[in-house]
Amino acid sequence: MKAALVLGAGGFIGGHLVRRLKNEGFWVRGVDLKFNEFSETAADDFVIGDLRDAGFCRQIIDRRFDEVYQLAADMGGAGYIFTGENDADIMHNSSTVNLNVLDACHKRNIKRIFYSSSACMYPAYNQEDPDNPNCAEESAYPAAPDSEYGWEKLFSERLYLAYQRNFGIQVRIARYHNIFGPEGTWTGGKEKAPAAICRKVASARNGGSIEMWGDGLQTRSFLYIDECLEGTTRLMRSGFTGPVNIGSEEMVTINELARVVMDISGKQLDVEHKPGPTGVRGRNSNNRLIKDRLGWAPAQPLRTGLEYTYAWIERQVLRNAA
Ligand code: NAD
Repeated sequence: MKAALVLGAGGFIGGHLVRRLKNEGFWVRGVDLKFNEFSETAADDFVIGDLRDAGFCRQIIDRRFDEVYQLAADMGGAGYIFTGENDADIMHNSSTVNLNVLDACHKRNIKRIFYSSSACMYPAYNQEDPDNPNCAEESAYPAAPDSEYGWEKLFSERLYLAYQRNFGIQVRIARYHNIFGPEGTWTGGKEKAPAAICRKVASARNGGSIEMWGDGLQTRSFLYIDECLEGTTRLMRSGFTGPVNIGSEEMVTINELARVVMDISGKQLDVEHKPGPTGVRGRNSNNRLIKDRLGWAPAQPLRTGLEYTYAWIERQVLRNAA
């Protein structure tokens, strides 16, 4: 039986990935600071602990794993990563985790590890025009991410590549673009735009209004969790190191995103624009490289994923209100 290790398994993407690997027949160990918030883990073995502790990393990487997925990071939406208040924690925590995990994998002779980087590492100067952002993989340098979260991702990408170059461990690096879906953070300050908008719409009465940070004209693309996992496992099992974008090319403004969610809900709502952290003006995945190297790219329309996500968040809102 093949064995997989999922670090950050108590989080949104990690929880879904564990379920997927179990369905594929893997024996799975999950590791996180916490259990999944919204459902029981599907992992065979789930270890609670802190990957900033090098000794703990050595303990959980104590056997052969065919696939190691490193998803653990200190992260959140714009309200967490763009205010500046969490910068030291974000940089210290996530880089310590990556340093420890890679060192432990190298010492155990682990053959292959996946690392989840982010589109936040792309230079801000290529994302000022909301209609024409450039997030092609080769545009990463000269580096100028707009957040410390992005700088840490760039540093860690380089760290993984250096271990591959010097120690022969095979690394696979994806740059995720805004992943969303059921069982993601939907309240509390770390939620991202699709979840925040779904929550606000689900909580509003028909004819009322919702608040939005910024003018809503900034553009983004959003990728549904199932397609993220399809891309992740395809990359992991391919001969291609990356870094490669895993994202949708269906770019929308945040106002358009809100309109689709309202349409799904059947509610007519006004949008009140408020000052707040919004990040770059435009961002979209560029899928030329993934199509070329993996012969695959996400294709599901944004609306389909939002329908599943809205239904799940509406249930959480109703349950909380009861
Ligand atoms: P998440 O916050 O839900 O999951 C990350 C998990 O890592 C959390 O459960 C957290 O408890 C765990 N963790 C953090 N520090 C830890 C530590 N010291 N020891 C053990 N566990 C620790 O986030 P997610 O959305 O599932 O993202 C997974 C990965 O993908 C992250 O690396 C993130 O930066 C990256 N990513 C996500 C997105 C997205 O849109 N969700 C976009 C780009 C990149």
